[in-house]
Amino acid sequence: MTGLYDSFQRPINYLRISVTDRCNLRCVYCMPDDGICQMSHGDILTYEEIYTIVQVAAELGITKVRLTGGEPLARLGLAELVQMLGQLDAIDDISLTTNGTLLSRYAPVLKRAGLKRVNISLDTLRPDRFKRITRGSYDVADVLGGIDGARSAGLSPVKINVVVMAGINDDEVLDFAGKTIGEEWHVRFIEFMPTAGVGYSPSRFVPVSEIQKRLEQLGELEPCLPHVGNGPARYFRFPGGRGTVGFINPVSEHFCFHCNRLRLTADGKLCPCLLSDDEVDLKQPLRSGVSSSELKQLIVTAVSSKPLRHHLPEGGLPEGRPMTQVGG
Ligand code: SAM
Ligand code: SF4
Repeated sequence: MTGLYDSFQRPINYLRISVTDRCNLRCVYCMPDDGICQMSHGDILTYEEIYTIVQVAAELGITKVRLTGGEPLARLGLAELVQMLGQLDAIDDISLTTNGTLLSRYAPVLKRAGLKRVNISLDTLRPDRFKRITRGSYDVADVLGGIDGARSAGLSPVKINVVVMAGINDDEVLDFAGKTIGEEWHVRFIEFMPTAGVGYSPSRFVPVSEIQKRLEQLGELEPCLPHVGNGPARYFRFPGGRGTVGFINPVSEHFCFHCNRLRLTADGKLCPCLLSDDEVDLKQPLRSGVSSSELKQLIVTAVSSKPLRHHLPEGGLPEGRPMTQVGG
């Protein structure tokens, strides 16, 4: 068996890299009310350090990377990192998850640097609600401009991630789904996950089954294949629809048995599971001149400590890093 496998024989080929813990928004479901204790500049991995980690991870079996944050476009020169990672032959897919507010400015340079595709988080189409959810100084128009900019630059597909929260934006699921009929929107509805530091309440949770039921008003969803990737989303299309509707249900029907990913935080910790507080430090060893085979061993250690599944249903809530410091 070649490649990287965890102790449950799951192939691990996907690395999500948080390039910064900073964000220009403060989404209610992600950023704690009182903000985060920000990492100091010196604590954050340089692009060269990220490159070294990905190079070694690629030798082990990682083939796909996604850049995330905080807000990845809040870090200067991200296109430079994309270009560096694009030089690694074993990496066949480089993607980005962003809140889209800065994307219209950066999409062309990112595309030229080798970025293939982008996921954009957008939880409401309504300007006043956007301000309330994101608690920032940006407008929904900035994100819509980012979506247009990404498409014009040739990033494809452009997927829209919507975290559905009862009483906050769940009355917009039909509006978002409707966009996939007349326009080439690829919308993914994500269940609200309880994460560290955020005032989560079970009363805000909307299971994917409920969202699917509401969408029946628009027609019968037909299953379809994903454009790219082998992530946890299941995809559908309305008859004649130009776009797709995806569902991601990490809570109601966890997909841990197919989990293929690792996460690297901006300060160089490798996290085997989004919903566990375990992590393996790569930064200090890297800065102390670790050899590439020792770095490989640390990655293998993280992989072998990947738990079989998360324990949200039994009340096992993560207490460590807020989502904005892990990258989703
Ligand atoms: N700032 C970028 C963005 O918003 O896309 C990247 C980082 S953000 C942490 C990555 C993803 O995590 C986003 O799609 C966001 O919606 C999702 N996310 C954050 N908190 C979440 C939560 N409590 N439940 C479900 N998804 C969450
Ligand atoms: Fe920032 Fe993204 Fe979290 Fe919103 S979801 S606070 S944009 S990191």
